[in-house]
Amino acid sequence: MDLASPTNRVLALADTVKVEQMQALEQEVCACQRCRLANGRTQAVPGYGNYHAVVMFVGEGPGFEEDRQGRPFVGRSGQFLTEMLNSVGIRREEVYITNVIKCRPPDNRDPLPEELVACHDYLTRQVALVNPRIIVTLGRFSMQRWLPSASITKVHGQVRNIGYGRVALAMFHPAAALRNPQWRREFAQDLQILPTLMARASKANEAAARGEALPAGTPHPGDPDYRPDSVKPVEPTAQTESADAK
Ligand code: URA
Repeated sequence: MDLASPTNRVLALADTVKVEQMQALEQEVCACQRCRLANGRTQAVPGYGNYHAVVMFVGEGPGFEEDRQGRPFVGRSGQFLTEMLNSVGIRREEVYITNVIKCRPPDNRDPLPEELVACHDYLTRQVALVNPRIIVTLGRFSMQRWLPSASITKVHGQVRNIGYGRVALAMFHPAAALRNPQWRREFAQDLQILPTLMARASKANEAAARGEALPAGTPHPGDPDYRPDSVKPVEPTAQTESADAK
């Protein structure tokens, strides 16, 4: 980056501030005592990856290995996720990965409502700071954060506009995909669109950094038919998920 340019100096400063704020937030999560999960954890797992990523993966909560290592998706599900990403040409270093709850629930049970509430603003702040164009939700707890009344078996693989120039791609949880061969195939299929979404998102970010306003009607990343007046709300569907679908 040419730091003689005032615009580039402002961008470099903004990057430094972002990194500092993310690190401060991660430290805050590591010291968190907001709910009872703090008592049973080895350590909190704030999130890990590229603070400038165009895509953020959001899982459910740390498991045994994550609690031990302090990083998200480093156990069996994580290995599967990494392999799947690599199969479509994406490296983990390119993305940011976190969870809706930051501490391991006992016996890997589902997060309780009060635990989701306690952790809520950490994820809000991570999204605001990293500012990804794409959020990949892994499993139903993560999906419910942005698509509260959707059914994962119906919306997985779909790209939805969620405002703020962002889209969500809902996917099965890797653990569910590992358990169920059909969901595993669908997981692999659903991921196929991500490289295209990421390429579009990077282009949109580059244009924004050059100060180029996107002309009206420019396709939104992830939705070739996107127009501001044609944003479709998520249709409410009955909550009929099996717990197994995660
Ligand atoms: N499952 C999750 O939801 N998150 C992790 O970090 C690991 C397993």
